Amino acid sequence: MTGEARPGRAPAADHTAQGPDVARLDVPALVARARAAAGPDGRLAPGDVVGWDTFPFEREGLRLRDLVDPTTPEPPRSDEAAETCRRCARPDGDFTWTDDTWRLHAPAPVTLPTLILDPRAHGDLGDLDDEAAGALGRMIVRVERALAAVPGVGRVHVHRWGDGNGHLHVFFFARPEGMLQLRGLVMPLWAQHLPPLPDAEWDAIVASVVARLDAGRA
Ligand SMILES: [Zn+2]
Repeated sequence: MTGEARPGRAPAADHTAQGPDVARLDVPALVARARAAAGPDGRLAPGDVVGWDTFPFEREGLRLRDLVDPTTPEPPRSDEAAETCRRCARPDGDFTWTDDTWRLHAPAPVTLPTLILDPRAHGDLGDLDDEAAGALGRMIVRVERALAAVPGVGRVHVHRWGDGNGHLHVFFFARPEGMLQLRGLVMPLWAQHLPPLPDAEWDAIVASVVARLDAGRA
């Protein structure tokens, strides 16, 4: 650490002095900058991602959609309220593994091994207290290890988006070993286009994960 301010960035001391009351993501300005950067057809040029070896689509003919105006206030997501939450209302029988705190769902059919972890208690990520946050971290590691241990799994990706549903749920996606074209953020896009796993193969993978989670029950 030299203490020197890098060009284009405020010195750390000044940044701290501004504090959280000043910080703001200026969305109208962001949209205006994006529109100003658009080409003659009114569209932004595709970014570097289209040149990645892992990008699922050919660059030829690809064009971005028009950037629509921001919608504020945002419409409510599904299952925002505990009283009407359909995730809360699902019976344990809908899940492949449960304990007092967590419920793990294995959707079917899937094109790539996919698991979804819900806390029993209604709420979103930011609603967790410190104890629940710690428990979530431990549970994510348990599920990741159980899925990663399945032969043929090269890596397990852990995702939490939260734009569609107010009840926290964490996705685990298994990247097939050696399929380096599916590395990173593009894998969920590839998953939309692959054929489904055979039922027996997916059932056996789920059973393997359940056995490992059962072995680790407190
Ligand atoms: Zn809920």
